[in-house]
Amino acid sequence: MVDDLNPDVLVVGGGLIGLATAATLLERAPGTSVTVLERDVIGRGASRHSGAIDIPYFRTALHRQLVETSWAWHEARGAQATAYRRQVPMTWYVDPGADLQSHVATPLARGAPGAPPGWRSPDGVRELVGDAFVIDPEAWCHVLAQEVTRSGRGQVVEHTTAVALDERPRGATVTCADGRSYSAGHVVLTLGPWFPGWSERTREWSAARGLRTKRVFGLNIEVDASLRANAAVGWPGADIYFHPAHAGGGYRLSLRHDEWDVAPDAPHAMADIVLERASGFLDPLLGKGHWSVSGHRVFVDTYTPEFEPVIAPCMALGGRVTLATGTHGSGIRLAPGIAELTARTVLSSLEQTRGVA
Ligand SMILES: Cc1cc2nc3c(=O)[nH]c(=O)nc-3n(C[C@H](O)[C@H](O)[C@H](O)COP(=O)(O)OP(=O)(O)OC[C@H]3O[C@@H](n4cnc5c(N)ncnc54)[C@H](O)[C@@H]3O)c2cc1C
Repeated sequence: MVDDLNPDVLVVGGGLIGLATAATLLERAPGTSVTVLERDVIGRGASRHSGAIDIPYFRTALHRQLVETSWAWHEARGAQATAYRRQVPMTWYVDPGADLQSHVATPLARGAPGAPPGWRSPDGVRELVGDAFVIDPEAWCHVLAQEVTRSGRGQVVEHTTAVALDERPRGATVTCADGRSYSAGHVVLTLGPWFPGWSERTREWSAARGLRTKRVFGLNIEVDASLRANAAVGWPGADIYFHPAHAGGGYRLSLRHDEWDVAPDAPHAMADIVLERASGFLDPLLGKGHWSVSGHRVFVDTYTPEFEPVIAPCMALGGRVTLATGTHGSGIRLAPGIAELTARTVLSSLEQTRGVA
């Protein structure tokens, strides 16, 4: 049973990174109890706004490890994963001279059928074909929350905002806006884009480390019935990805447009330049008049100068506090890999504490 206010590990932030971390901790450490605190309801932060495409693309060695661990994590869950993740063939558009295969963790084929009939590739690119997946982040959050609570050692506490964190000799105490305090042997902060602005110390730490927030822009697209297919296209050189939604028949388009240091609670509007670039990509691909914008998703994610997540003790907040952030608009697809590394960091810290007790 979980001691309501004194779990072994307290995870603050019930987005996909926090929930995947809690589920992984419970799986890896059978004697450990875990509580997740979420200020809203689970999955209502950045995770809710994601498209979400799960591609095997990586930039660095750590990134590759996160991609491979994440794909293996879903595969190990078998049929359970089909509730929130389904396969979609992916056509990659590769610019002349660009080397894509050394950035993709699975083999790509040349000359395969490519994008569906009626979809016209951008001029001058090569086409390579491989696998991708689309995810329903909300459904996945609920699957993870069930895993946590069904373990009998985990709980998810919603509508509870953490406002302060104090280190104590063998753990840390988190105080919440409602006056309750949770004391744990270790605290994991998975606050997503709320982390940099959460407190004076996280502000200073983020500024020193170069951790920043940036807007992420997503469009919901409807496509004429004759052109609809279970197919995704990605163009890393242009940072454009177009793919079906997990369910409902619509499509998702993501386009890069840099607006830095944006607070997650600020109003978020679609930018005209993003709409213009959407037309510039989709008109040639599908034909003018054969697609339309049915909505948009604009929110914020965290970015690091190294282009990879931070999964590490956060000494500015104390030796018993681990941080998992810096998700670069890819936190859904990297969540299990980030969770595995975070769980490893937390469990080794707990071991050390128990060792000296
Ligand atoms: C438009 C858009 C499209 C995207 N598309 C993709 C995609 O296709 N593929 C992909 O992999 N990624 C995509 N992403 C990125 C992905 O959504 C994020 O990287 C991921 O959701 C980050 O998860 P998280 O758990 O770190 O953050 P969040 O989901 O934001 O979770 C943090 C949680 O902490 C909670 N919280 C904050 N402060 C407190 C507090 N004081 N006390 C308690 N709880 C608190 C928040 O309410 C929130 O639920 C996209 C993002 C956007 C915005």
